Formats: sequence, structure tokens, C-alpha cells
Amino acid sequence: MKTFFADEQKRHDPSFFLSSGAPQPNPEQPERVERLLSGARAAGLEIVRPKDHGLGPVSAVHTPEYIDFLGRIHERWQRIEGASKEVIPNIHPIARTGSYPASAVGQAGYHMADTSCPISEHTFESACWSASTAVSAAEAVMAGDAWSYALCRPPGHHAFRDVAGGFCFFNNSGIAAEHLLKDAKRVAILDVDLHHGNGTQGMFYERRDVLTVSIHADPVRFYPFFWGHADERGEGFGLGYNLNLPLARKSGDDIFLYALAVAIRRVEAFSPDALVVALGLDAFEQDPFGGLSVSTPGFARIAEAIGALRLPTVIVQEGGYLCDELGDNLTSFLTGFGALSG
Ligand SMILES: [Zn+2]
Repeated sequence: MKTFFADEQKRHDPSFFLSSGAPQPNPEQPERVERLLSGARAAGLEIVRPKDHGLGPVSAVHTPEYIDFLGRIHERWQRIEGASKEVIPNIHPIARTGSYPASAVGQAGYHMADTSCPISEHTFESACWSASTAVSAAEAVMAGDAWSYALCRPPGHHAFRDVAGGFCFFNNSGIAAEHLLKDAKRVAILDVDLHHGNGTQGMFYERRDVLTVSIHADPVRFYPFFWGHADERGEGFGLGYNLNLPLARKSGDDIFLYALAVAIRRVEAFSPDALVVALGLDAFEQDPFGGLSVSTPGFARIAEAIGALRLPTVIVQEGGYLCDELGDNLTSFLTGFGALSG
């Protein structure tokens, strides 16, 4: 089986973010890639460079206004006297009206949910390649591979149709799902990242061709706070096509697997033609975010349960931050997944 990854994805190198108001080193570091690549190799996967798929698959789920913003904002920002090196917003609309600001500062607040997605010189390039990685992994499955792994970095599941947030710019899982729909009638996205996949939920909230299911730390006291609650079930045609399973802080393997069984039952009822797994490894007990307590062997058990669905599956990397076991956790997941699904 194949891992997709392009070196350009390492060029995005954010320096800091604000945590409880204090500047901290940004945890979404290029070093993550080295650990994840060695984890994928240890699981026996071949590393393949993705094709450059351009902006077509990205514009299938993101607005042209937002794509244009991401492509040009860094250069525009440099022309503001005294501005920061990286684009970081300092004003946000409480509610959106019909108006769209012309200024770079106004647009940054409009298109960025928080301070954890600073945009530097190479961010757009890295985000585009991360999206192409997801598309190439989807195409491998569409061409007959049982499954594939997209080493997407920067990650994607906090990115909405026209908003970046939480280290994410383009929603790679959403892009993969939309691409799979070229062949499939229905696609499910199962998000096992520590944090709720709010961008993915928002993107498909009124649709019934994409089921979105997320297991995550309860947002009542955890990022992303405003989304991920159990009563968010979809709207309009999408009502009943979104399932959130928030878990108490520090929940371990058994509780996670219990929620996963509920998630899998919902996926089975949807009877999709293909599956996207939004694979965060930050539910790990030693992850710096410390929200849940999944163990290294626990990731293999999670993968085995998902692999038992025997669906054509694209595994898309989301979170999972620097700790000694980051690579081992990926190896554990990919080995567990491969054991059941071939
Ligand atoms: Zn996360």
C-alpha cells in the first residue's frame, strides 16, 4: 500500500500561536513529517510523490474568494507598515453580514478563525501540496487499491469552506471525500482526531451524500469550543447525516472503542461506497495536547475496528504532535488497518 507525500509540504514553518493568550512555539512543526514518514515506512508502506492536481479539487469544496485570499495574503501583508512577518488576525466578525472587507487585515479576520494558523511565505504552496496528496491517495483507491495513506501536512479538518483555523488551511479530508464522489454515490468521513472536525462538519452540514462522524474530547471545555456537541446533527437535507461523539477528558482505549463502535454502526447504516478516515494521533495519552488517553496499542485496535468495515478507504493525516511515540502510533494504526483490510 502507498503513502503519498511531497517535500514542499514541509516548507510551511509557523513560528508561534497564542495559547490562553500567551505566545507559544507552534506545535504544527515540519519535524512531524519526519516522524510520520518513518512510522509509515515501519508499517511497510511505499512512499510516493503525489501528482500536482492543481486547484480544481480544492475549489470543489473551498470558495474562490478564500483560495484567492490564501494565495495572495502573505505578499499583501508585507506591504503593511509595521506588520508581523506571519499573517495573524486581530479582529473577527462576531456574525457575518453581506459585506466583505477590502483590507488585508479585515480579510484575515474574515477568513481565519483563530491565531493558530499563521500564514507565511510558503504556507499556500504547502497547503496546495497537502491537498494534492489527499487527491492522489483518493485516486489510488479509485484505481483499485484497497486503501491508501495521505500524509497531509499542514492538516485540514478545522478548515471550513472559506475559513482557516487550528493549524488547517485546506480541508484535505473533505477534498478527498469530494474527489471520491466522482465515482461513489455516498462517502463517509470518520474523524478520530482528538479535536472535533468542525471544518469538515461545516462543509457537509446540509448534505446527505457525505456522512460526517467525529469522536473527540468534549468541546464544552476544549478546542474548538463552538462546535462538536452531540446535538449538532446536520441541517436541511443533511439532518441526520452528522454524528458527534464527545468524550470526557482523559478517556482511554476502552471508552474510545465503545464510541467507535457507535460510530461504525452509523457508518454501516449509511452504506457508503468509500470511507475517509481523518486520522489524528493526538488522542494519544502522551500527546502535548493531553486531551484523551489512547495508548499506542489502542491505535491498532481502533484501526482494526475501522478496517473490519472492508470499505475502500483513504486515511488522511490530521493532528498528532511531537512526542517520542508519534511515529510508533502511526505504525500501530497502519499495521492494524492493513491486517484486516489487506
Ligand atoms: Zn487535533
